[in-house]
Amino acid sequence: MSTATATSQSGGLWSNLALWKKILIGMIAGVLVGAIMGPQAEVLKPIGSLFINAIKMLIVPLVFCSLVVGVTSMQDTAKMGRIGLKAIIIYLSTTAVAISIGLGLGIVLEPGAGLNMQAEAGAAAAAAAAAKEAPSLVTTILGLIPKNPIEALAGGKILQIIVFALGLGIALNLIGEKGAPAVKIFNSLAEAMYKLTELVMRFAPYGIFALMAWVAGKYGLEVLLPLVKVIAAVFAGCILHVLVVYSGAISLLAGLKPVQYLKGILNAQMMAFTSTSSSGTLPVSIRCARENLGVSKGTASFVLPLGATINMDGTALYQGVCALFIAQAFGIDLSMADYMTIIATATLASIGTAGVPGAGLIMLSLVLTTVGLPMEGLAIIAGIDRILDMARTCVNVSGDLMVSVLIGKSEGELDENIYNAKDPVIEPEAVKA
Ligand code: ASP
Repeated sequence: MSTATATSQSGGLWSNLALWKKILIGMIAGVLVGAIMGPQAEVLKPIGSLFINAIKMLIVPLVFCSLVVGVTSMQDTAKMGRIGLKAIIIYLSTTAVAISIGLGLGIVLEPGAGLNMQAEAGAAAAAAAAAKEAPSLVTTILGLIPKNPIEALAGGKILQIIVFALGLGIALNLIGEKGAPAVKIFNSLAEAMYKLTELVMRFAPYGIFALMAWVAGKYGLEVLLPLVKVIAAVFAGCILHVLVVYSGAISLLAGLKPVQYLKGILNAQMMAFTSTSSSGTLPVSIRCARENLGVSKGTASFVLPLGATINMDGTALYQGVCALFIAQAFGIDLSMADYMTIIATATLASIGTAGVPGAGLIMLSLVLTTVGLPMEGLAIIAGIDRILDMARTCVNVSGDLMVSVLIGKSEGELDENIYNAKDPVIEPEAVKA
């Protein structure tokens, strides 16, 4: 016993610290180290990449297995259709609200006023190249069905994987007993993926430390100064959206305490902030939904992968601010019809935006083209995109989790004892043991 006590004491403060606290310390330490080291902090990047790669490794098998499990654990096909429809309606309406907030902040804060933005050599070409990459809506819709599911899995085409997983899950439900062995295998694989996520997440504080050091070292404060207003507007909008819209929805629509929601999603937010990838954050989001918010396994594994792919409130909000920033910087007046077009395009574009770093920038080019704003602006935004991506991905993920709570509550798939538990359950194994 004395040995055990000695070991646990020697493990000390650090190993007993909750994961989110370790991640927070990693983030702050990373910024400090990055600020001191400057561009040389790039040497730390591989540690961050190691972590990001380990998380990426989880995405395809996790999305696939957890969606199949999500569908098969909802034997009732009508219920699944209802949940899917509800999720999509809430996803799209909150996205439209988000972009309106972005536009509103752009009008009030005028981030582009007084900025003399001239097209630099090569900027237009870079923007045009980005615009070319943006798929049209028709291409996105046609591309939903994988001609070859194995190719979709190998290529990490998340929307196609979702469609195939949904189809497979429904088919397994329809064949009843004959499907039972396969369902069992998918259940066990999904559990294994959740466990693997937990193991990878133990490395998160170190990976995140390295990533933050790299970002802070690369951008430094001086480079950011002229664009500080855009950054401030996007960050303010993101905070507003989470604190007002999401907390409001949790309180008014689900009748639950928003504080518990905000506490429960912390780990996922930090992961999103540093990885700038909703898909990459998915494993952590699923854990947060199940273990901190009490959302049932079926609902979490169905609603969250869907949300990580089609729900991009932060991205839409950012597009609103950036479109206005560019319009103001180039002295272009936007009409009411232009605002409406921006709202419609950004909402639809968010469906086709992949939950990966930088995808929103490509979609921004789509929005700019539709309302005829100069593409040169895109190159300027590109310089600070990583920082904006951190905030918007954080909102994207918070939105997915909010919807999982709303749906869980309305379908009787939410354990309020877990939701209302005093502290988030995700703690290091040392504490759990
Ligand atoms: N990085 C964002 C995400 O993964 C997408 C974006 O670039 O806006 O949610």
